[in-house]
Amino acid sequence: MNTPRPTRHLSRLTPDASRSFSFEFFPPNTPEGMDKLAQTAKQLAQLNPKFFSVTYGAGGSTRERTLRAVLDLRAAGYAAAPHISCIGSSREEIRGILQGYREQGIRHLVALRGDLPSGTATAGEFQYANELVAFIRKEFGDHFHIEVAAYPEYHPQAKSARDDLLNFRRKVEAGANSAITQYFYNADCYFHFVDECEAMGLSLPIVPGIMPIGKFSQLARFSDACGAEIPRWMRRKLEGYGDDSDSIRAFGLDVVTRLCDDLLAAGAPGLHFYTMNQAGLTSTIWQRLGL
Ligand code: FAD
Repeated sequence: MNTPRPTRHLSRLTPDASRSFSFEFFPPNTPEGMDKLAQTAKQLAQLNPKFFSVTYGAGGSTRERTLRAVLDLRAAGYAAAPHISCIGSSREEIRGILQGYREQGIRHLVALRGDLPSGTATAGEFQYANELVAFIRKEFGDHFHIEVAAYPEYHPQAKSARDDLLNFRRKVEAGANSAITQYFYNADCYFHFVDECEAMGLSLPIVPGIMPIGKFSQLARFSDACGAEIPRWMRRKLEGYGDDSDSIRAFGLDVVTRLCDDLLAAGAPGLHFYTMNQAGLTSTIWQRLGL
């Protein structure tokens, strides 16, 4: 039987023109990686995203490379936002990084707590991302547009779902302008999370984070580490394909395109793609969505 899928609607529909589409990169650590990133950015720039963002290794491990990649992207004519994570850093270090960003004319950040690699002793002067957001607002006023992370399936270290939601509210109340979510493959968790935020009076845009599916082993590893669920039916299908990378790719494209379609149809305020520095899957999903 061919019944139409019911469309879920968020209470606040975002007009198409104000939706935010963005692409995330990690900072390469070789000159070849930088060249490859420049090619990827060139390809993805044709899709006219609002911005590119570049991740930041916990404890400042990619400090120079993140800035370098952001400056290269800006020099090529693209809007680019660095991520900054506070765990393991002192206030002085964070102030220095932010001053550097301001001097370079950067006005857009993704502010995070980050995760210290296991075995690292020092926790630094910030414990949670809400402290970083408050620090940025105190020291730099409204200079930066601040994005924070959101977890529709809840953060793996949260004491409870309710606690995590209240902690998300702390970041918003500390001065975040918008949020990007951890990736997920079940649109209902996103809709539920947005409803809960609205019920708490939070009205910032919460943009779904989208992870295209390339290699199953890599996806499974990431998902275990960050607490993002791969639904059982997807896991079983992906496992069943074994080394057949064409089938994994075809299945992943179908599932992720449909997820994006459902999210946008319901009024999501945009999409943020975790590109893994590759243009192919993201561009194909984009074309299939007819964006
Ligand atoms: P927080 O918001 O501080 O939350 C962390 C945990 O602490 C949660 O369980 C929360 O419930 C709890 N908590 C928060 N505030 C309080 C409080 N005041 N009291 C008690 N408990 C509290 N990591 C990187 O290292 N570099 C990156 O570039 C990076 N980019 C990311 C981009 C996005 C869009 C996302 C979704 C994640 C990214 N991460 C990155 C991963 C992120 O750093 C981890 O998920 C990290 O574990 C949590 O960071 P957070 O900013 O969400 O932390």
